[in-house]
Amino acid sequence: MLVIKIGGAADIDYSNLCNDIAQLAAQGQPIVLFHGGSDGANTLSEQLGHPPRFITSPSGHTSRQTDRRTLEIFMMATALLNRQFVERLRGLGVNALGLSGIDGGLLQGTRKTNVRAVENGRVRVIRDDWTGSIDQVNRGLLQTLLSAGYLPVIAPLAVSNAGEPLNIDGDRGAASVAAALEAETLLLLTNVSGLYRKFPDESSLIEHLPRTELAQATEKLAQGRMKKKLLGAQTALDGGVRRVIIGDGRSEQPVSAALAGNGTIIE
Ligand code: ADP
Repeated sequence: MLVIKIGGAADIDYSNLCNDIAQLAAQGQPIVLFHGGSDGANTLSEQLGHPPRFITSPSGHTSRQTDRRTLEIFMMATALLNRQFVERLRGLGVNALGLSGIDGGLLQGTRKTNVRAVENGRVRVIRDDWTGSIDQVNRGLLQTLLSAGYLPVIAPLAVSNAGEPLNIDGDRGAASVAAALEAETLLLLTNVSGLYRKFPDESSLIEHLPRTELAQATEKLAQGRMKKKLLGAQTALDGGVRRVIIGDGRSEQPVSAALAGNGTIIE
């Protein structure tokens, strides 16, 4: 089982990715594709007159401020991207089926209450927040789809116990799915070649990271969004995934190249 997460960055060519997935799927490799959507959500937010806003937590993490309108825009943007992946994959003969973590309770989560943000040096509590963490994956649903021959394409949303839709972190979502399926490999494709020891120096790429050094790397080497990938990697490995690869989504054959050892392999 291979779980692939593709980020939302603008410089990634989705046709290369889909061609590569189609070749592997034709060889019988079971695959789940999990996608992001922040780039599309940013563009759509501007177009709809509700520009994206970002908040900084007291511990210094930056994240999208997700009020109800932003959540709706996020749902629209990720639904479009999801259909585009399904369209492209089906055009290549792959039996792709699109869904979000809301559908069938695929990803069950907890809504964050009392999100704290620092503004002008003061801490403010935000209540109209629609982000969440993931508690549980409906593994049975995924197994039903996989055993019926579908390739699930998942959008990064979860659903709370009260039925509320939640914006979730895509890397964490993909990691939870990989753990639930006890995947052999979780592949996190992004717009760099992997984890750099001295970001942004490409020659400092770490090719192999033992899992025992992951916590230290998360704290010392990764900045910003790369930290979330490494936290996702930790979730996946703790959940029984054999290896996590951070690979270059910009490659001509991003999946095959990563599986052949290009990128950062964490195991
Ligand atoms: P995606 O949208 O593909 O999920 P992100 O933008 O969330 O990707 O995360 C990847 C980004 O992390 C890179 O583009 C890079 O700017 C940043 N980054 C921070 N620290 C590192 C590091 N040590 N090595 C590589 N990339 C890093």
